[in-house]
Amino acid sequence: MTIFEGIVLKERSFGEQDKFIDVLTKDSGMIEISVRGARKINGKLSSSTQLFAYSRFCMDKRRDMLCLNSAEPVHIFYNLRNSLSRLSLASYFADVIRFCVAERTESGNVLRLLLNTLHYLENGNRTETMLKSIFELRLMTEIGFMPDVVGCKKCGDFEPEELYFSVSDGGFVCSGCADDGKSGSHRLESAELSAIRHIVLADFNRLYNFRLSDESMKRLSFFAESYLLAHLERSFSTLDFYKSLFMN
Ligand SMILES: [Zn+2]
Repeated sequence: MTIFEGIVLKERSFGEQDKFIDVLTKDSGMIEISVRGARKINGKLSSSTQLFAYSRFCMDKRRDMLCLNSAEPVHIFYNLRNSLSRLSLASYFADVIRFCVAERTESGNVLRLLLNTLHYLENGNRTETMLKSIFELRLMTEIGFMPDVVGCKKCGDFEPEELYFSVSDGGFVCSGCADDGKSGSHRLESAELSAIRHIVLADFNRLYNFRLSDESMKRLSFFAESYLLAHLERSFSTLDFYKSLFMN
């Protein structure tokens, strides 16, 4: 018998009655669990195997497959379902993680980032724009794509008022040193640079505590999304859908 705690990031129907769920766990990264008779079951087992349920799963290993025995819900992010934009944003987070996190990799920080972000997303204490930016930049940091936030690549200036951040090489130059190197870079101001430093370096218990003007948050958000997409070298239909909600 194997026991894992984790959060369900995808449900896939299989045959008439069964389903597979993809679960992010702390010690084993993404795991796939087969749930027999998923369409018939109800109550606790059903709620603990649905999308965005954080549960304790008891499983048997049969051949190479993990088969669910029983499950206890720990926290179910029910309130995400009350808002299409929150649910869509959470689905984008789930897709990104399923793409980035392999099996059998220690994923404690990624799991914590996701749970904390969903917690704030669910209770509405932080804006979606802020949560999306934090998730994108911190996730990239946790999986080995931390941006270089030390100082201007040419003169070392730690706190330039204006700077150009390159998504592709992950570093920045101050406006004084930026000559032709501006193309493909994001023009940012010192407040946004401080926010980026905070997101990549802060302890988890302080991660969600910073303030930015709407203007700065907009630039940070554009930068964070571009940074993630450039390094993962792909697009996400869930992200396109989320953004389509804000058109017009
Ligand atoms: Zn410089």
